[in-house]
Amino acid sequence: RSTYECFRPAPLHPPPVLKKLAAEPDHTDVSLTAAERVLALSKMGCSVEINEEITPRRYFRSGVEMERMAAVYLEEGSLENAYVLYNKFITLFVEKLPSHRDYRECSVPEKQVIMKKLQDVAFPRKDQLRKLLHEKFNKEHSAYLMSQSQAVVVDGCGQQLQRTSLVEQERLRVAQLRRMQMEAEQFRYFEDQLRRQELANRRDEAVAKVPEQTDGSCLSHSSKNHVRLDPNRNQPCHPSSKPAATLAGVHTQLVEGLRRVVIPRDLTYKFLLLADTNTARGIETCGVLCGKLTQNEFLLTHVVVPKQSAGPDYCDMENVEELFSFQDHHSLLTLGWIHTHPTQTAFLSSVDLHTHGSYQLMLPEAIAIVCSPKHNDTGVFRLTSSGMGEVARCRLKGFHPHSKDPPLFSICRHVVIKDLKTTVLDLR
Ligand SMILES: [Zn+2]
Ligand SMILES: [Zn+2]
Repeated sequence: RSTYECFRPAPLHPPPVLKKLAAEPDHTDVSLTAAERVLALSKMGCSVEINEEITPRRYFRSGVEMERMAAVYLEEGSLENAYVLYNKFITLFVEKLPSHRDYRECSVPEKQVIMKKLQDVAFPRKDQLRKLLHEKFNKEHSAYLMSQSQAVVVDGCGQQLQRTSLVEQERLRVAQLRRMQMEAEQFRYFEDQLRRQELANRRDEAVAKVPEQTDGSCLSHSSKNHVRLDPNRNQPCHPSSKPAATLAGVHTQLVEGLRRVVIPRDLTYKFLLLADTNTARGIETCGVLCGKLTQNEFLLTHVVVPKQSAGPDYCDMENVEELFSFQDHHSLLTLGWIHTHPTQTAFLSSVDLHTHGSYQLMLPEAIAIVCSPKHNDTGVFRLTSSGMGEVARCRLKGFHPHSKDPPLFSICRHVVIKDLKTTVLDLR
């Protein structure tokens, strides 16, 4: 697993693991004992990697948001998701981050916040949740055993002892059968997953295979294929992702392993109004997309436009403290960013790729919205796994060439447009 996937809900059975399907316990499998299922969840909570190129501050900010998400899961009764997230939180801040090369020098207010959250919230809730899950899984396992034994018809003449062993044998046989059946299903599911992934990759190539010029100037493609803010193009996600596949899928449908992001229809219009003066002068404008987690999907509610310095092909946010305190005050999560390309089409430049890499590292569902008023074009993008890998390895700054094949970014399929209102906050 690349370091760029540290907060991605860990797939229980990623495709390369096909051959050891039977060995990987699945936390949704009621035929497993409670202890086995809790252990499977704990393991998911340990899969956290850190990247030294990302500042500790960024991790602390991300930790604040992880705790926010875990609290939502807990409140909504999604015990499994909450448990895994608290485990990740603990793994990140107790085991992993202290070994970051810049950890000691880093003194930010969030460090104290996180230490306090560890002690007061994460550890106690983790223990609490482990007990609750144990009880829940025990009940489910007993119900499972009961249903298995009830399925066995025993003739009334048999002695009690004989009958018990018969029932026990039958229970084992049925459990075995069920397991084989589940394995076969999972196998089919992964085959299907692989096929779809391949299809998606081919689609990506068709859509996002656009050569980037190293000076960041306009792309030589005029098609508006990648516009995703067209309501008709936003069909509900395909219900193909099964709950067992990823952590985030415990309760809701996922799109290619990602939780959905709901975007209000008026978002780009409102943002472009704010950006108008800059756009007229050919200068970029950028903002941060904020929102909430609810029922395992993200709802984009706010666009915050921080103080910034910008030019025709760059936009750097300044004084992020104001942004952070607004987010903390409203318990908002960072769901991505939005910026204009006043003279170019909508795409991710090499600099944009790096910027978005760190958003996506913190939240796999993070999106980059690029508005091109001149071409009346808007794209909602994310990095492909090749893009994440490339950006993680690349140490270059400013506009620079990247490899072009396979595509480094693609349009988002996990977004959906709804008739909701965006709140815009201009801090400039
Ligand atoms: Zn850009
Ligand atoms: Zn690069």
